[in-house]
Amino acid sequence: MENCIFCKIIKKEIPSKFLYEDDLVVAFADVNPIAPVHILIIPKEHIESITHLPKNEKGARIAGRLISVARDLAEENKLAADGYKLLFRVGRDGGQEVPHIHLHLIGGTKLCEDIHPC
Ligand code: 5GP
Ligand code: ZN
Repeated sequence: MENCIFCKIIKKEIPSKFLYEDDLVVAFADVNPIAPVHILIIPKEHIESITHLPKNEKGARIAGRLISVARDLAEENKLAADGYKLLFRVGRDGGQEVPHIHLHLIGGTKLCEDIHPC
């Protein structure tokens, strides 16, 4: 996707340090962190949102990989004992701002709820 900021990060058109990379996903620090640890895990393929994830084996592999990589990065960052938040925003009502699937890994401090209607 030509104008997708996360596709540009994947293609290294925007410099970014990858915290993790494999055949399906990459992870990098959020540019505007809301907590001591704030990492985004994204599929290498441009998929707009969870709504657009293919309902097949490939979609299931991507979803599973995003979550297992988030879990591993949480352990690496010593978040497992105290806990952390994993967050997918989906579409307009979900508050998704970047239309390329991303799983937020947020931790290192106590996090308040952010699920109230606004
Ligand atoms: P959303 O609201 O779509 O769930 O979250 C988008 C996230 O992407 C935000 O937390 C925002 O700070 C982050 N973000 C937006 N643009 C960039 C960028 O160019 N680089 C990085 N590393 N993060 C970005
Ligand atoms: Zn993209």
